[in-house]
Amino acid sequence: MRIPTLSLILWSLLAPMISGAQENPVRVEGYLYLDHSPVSLKIQNGKILEINRLTEIPDGFPEVYIAPGFIDNQVNGYAGVSFALGGSDLTTEGVTKATRALWKEGVTTYLPTLTTNSREILLKNFRILAAAMENKEIRGSIPGFHLEGPFISPEDGYRGAHPAEHVRLPDWNELREYQQAAGGKILQLTLAPEVEGALALMDSCRENHILVALGHHNAPAAIITAAIDRGARIATHLGNGAANTINRHRNPFWPQLADERLMISIIADGFHLLPEQIRVFTKVKGTGGTILTSDVTGFAGLPPGEFVTSEGITIELTPEGMLRYPGQNVLYGSASPLSKGVGHVMKVTGCSLADAVQMASTNPARLYGLDDRGEIAPGKRADLVIFTLENFHVSVQHTIVAGETVYRAEP
Ligand SMILES: [Zn+2]
Repeated sequence: MRIPTLSLILWSLLAPMISGAQENPVRVEGYLYLDHSPVSLKIQNGKILEINRLTEIPDGFPEVYIAPGFIDNQVNGYAGVSFALGGSDLTTEGVTKATRALWKEGVTTYLPTLTTNSREILLKNFRILAAAMENKEIRGSIPGFHLEGPFISPEDGYRGAHPAEHVRLPDWNELREYQQAAGGKILQLTLAPEVEGALALMDSCRENHILVALGHHNAPAAIITAAIDRGARIATHLGNGAANTINRHRNPFWPQLADERLMISIIADGFHLLPEQIRVFTKVKGTGGTILTSDVTGFAGLPPGEFVTSEGITIELTPEGMLRYPGQNVLYGSASPLSKGVGHVMKVTGCSLADAVQMASTNPARLYGLDDRGEIAPGKRADLVIFTLENFHVSVQHTIVAGETVYRAEP
């Protein structure tokens, strides 16, 4: 009997060397977001190992939900760091700071988003971001980038806050330079399909695996259909990036809503869309065709107060998370993280938590081919958000990224 025991001891010593160091499994408990069933998850080596559904709720079981980490496809900046502007705060450290602040809100994956700007600033910022995304400290939270502009509509209203002097016509050579600067990691381009050269650019995007989104445009129905035929997959923040006054028949909303091949993203922060818009959009597109996005600027995640932008404009962040021109109800941008959108979409549509999380995590993971994310299943990356939900308010208690706790709320 001594020999097998010895071989067992030897095996236990050698096995970690043979198979790579195995950490001890970590356990996470709470109610599964899908069906409110009590579960115990086992995590090992950054991945979900097992999901055990409990038949009885043990004493002291935590009153929290467990969901896959939120995935935000439009983050212009966060916690005082702007990805999109030309300021000097965009450094690897700045990106780490923004990422850590997003983790506190349960956002475990996001696409830093650059908007219409000069060629020099876009190239510079993509180079910095491409280096920053490799930083081990952010644990793979940035899989790639979103470029919104500069090939958008020059028309006031549709152009939104994008500076007119930097709006230009689509040019594949220019986009290719950005893609090179970004290390090949531009995952999505938002463009206006009606501007000269846009449809041809879409062909180049398709060949080069850049997903095309329609946004900040005033395209007629025939061009929207042509763009979807050429592979446009999603409408960026439907209902925003449009003029205040539109033709009741011929406007870009109807054809984008009517074509079931096109998904939509919506800013469900409680300020950018009316509840009835969110209800109609989600009814038409369904849970499977809708993505929640934040479109947050660098002012998001800061304490309420007044700030001066790099253009010298004074803006105000209210305690409710509205980013506006002081004393007016005119929005400057968005300041609510995706966690707020999850609660808000449930509040205004009556959808389940499972549906809200699908729109905030599963759908974007599938759209960008992030096969290891967006679901709780064995073998997936252990990117988890653990939260309470009261009065449609998501309060993040604990965030896990690639198996490691990166945030825990004060008790
Ligand atoms: Zn926009």
